[in-house]
Amino acid sequence: PSAEAAELERTFIAIKPDGVQRGLISEIVSRFERKGYKLVAIKLVVPSKQFAEQHYEDLKERPFFNGLCEFLSSGPVLAMVWEGQGVIKYGRKLIGATDPQNSEPGTIRGDLAIIVGRNIIHGSDGPETAKNEINLWFKPEELVNYAHNSEKWLY
Ligand code: ADP
Ligand code: MG
Repeated sequence: PSAEAAELERTFIAIKPDGVQRGLISEIVSRFERKGYKLVAIKLVVPSKQFAEQHYEDLKERPFFNGLCEFLSSGPVLAMVWEGQGVIKYGRKLIGATDPQNSEPGTIRGDLAIIVGRNIIHGSDGPETAKNEINLWFKPEELVNYAHNSEKWLY
């Protein structure tokens, strides 16, 4: 597969307010960087409750929905778009299972979190949600086009 074709896959990754407050930004960003993925957008935002509800729309029937949206809008969130071959699925692998009690050691949630309501990071769960979430959180001009050195070596 060519590096050019691989460029097309993008995912939305966000460090939730607990991850930001705990000082885990660099730890988490470095895991995606070291893997070889390319950062194409990044910003620190405090989402409104309404915005959080939009982001988690698919979960609106779940009992934890309100608390989840309160939490996501309670402080700064580091919103990012990462690009690279298989980044949607592999990003989820780097993140680990939703409930940190089930996340494998070596994953972000496995290594850095304990409870499901404070699992420090979000990642899109498929191509359709990745597209929707990137569009929700970023304007097209916020996605930066640049050559990534490691594309030559890592695709
Ligand atoms: P993921 O973030 O792994 O994609 P989901 O999309 O199923 O997981 O859920 C979104 C978020 O909702 C989770 O990351 C977690 O913070 C929260 N959540 C999920 N299940 C529960 C639960 N049973 N109790 C409290 N919060 C939950
Ligand atoms: Mg999800």
